[in-house]
Amino acid sequence: MSLRIQLVGHATFLIELGGQRIVTDPWFADRIGIPFRFFNLRRSDSPGVSGEIPSVDLILCSHRHADHFNLNDLARMNRSAEVFVADKWMKRKLGAMGYRNVNVVRPWDKKDLGSVAVSAVPAIEGAEGLPQVGYVLEGSGKKIYFGGDTAYFEGFEEIGMRYQIDVALVPVDGVKILGRTVTMTPTQAAWAVRQLKAKITIPHHYHVTSSFPGSLLHKATGTPEQFRREVLRVCGETAIQVLKPGEHFQIA
Ligand SMILES: [Zn+2]
Repeated sequence: MSLRIQLVGHATFLIELGGQRIVTDPWFADRIGIPFRFFNLRRSDSPGVSGEIPSVDLILCSHRHADHFNLNDLARMNRSAEVFVADKWMKRKLGAMGYRNVNVVRPWDKKDLGSVAVSAVPAIEGAEGLPQVGYVLEGSGKKIYFGGDTAYFEGFEEIGMRYQIDVALVPVDGVKILGRTVTMTPTQAAWAVRQLKAKITIPHHYHVTSSFPGSLLHKATGTPEQFRREVLRVCGETAIQVLKPGEHFQIA
């Protein structure tokens, strides 16, 4: 088996590629937890992995928000992992926990790790303007794009041109904070699909809500069903694979 992608939930995927096990934006619990009580994000679906967090070789983190860089969960993960982060604050937090192999990356940085290469690609953090990157993984003749919770921007076209992407993992829930869209809506994500030109797209970053009082500011209503309809409208027939938490997709 050369590529296996399992949805844990939200932006967290467990990927097996080139004999290495990779996790994206680790958040394995039901809620994001302290110290982020105000937004208190919680899942509508149970996470697809329960109990011990599996041991991994690589951890890819798009940005520092706790639904993507969950310190409670990172404290439960193996410190031997090679970690990729978007800023020095994240590196310091991980260093204090005992992680030793932490790479702060900027768009187009690339690191070869034997059977797998990791490249950072541009992304837009829309809420606070914090550093955010996406990632492209290459291994076993496959290329996988991961976009954390990026806003829509023009750069998808270039990412699609530089890499012939096999599988794209794109956020779709259209998070609005104080009425401003900060993560791609289903329609914007459909346009990203059109520009990325991936063979298969798996939506993520949906079915997470904020409870009161954060719910007054934070709304996320986009669903994978809306995304599928918008892709059909914007791109025509394009392969979309919707996974439930715990389900996986694989290519031999
Ligand atoms: Zn997010």
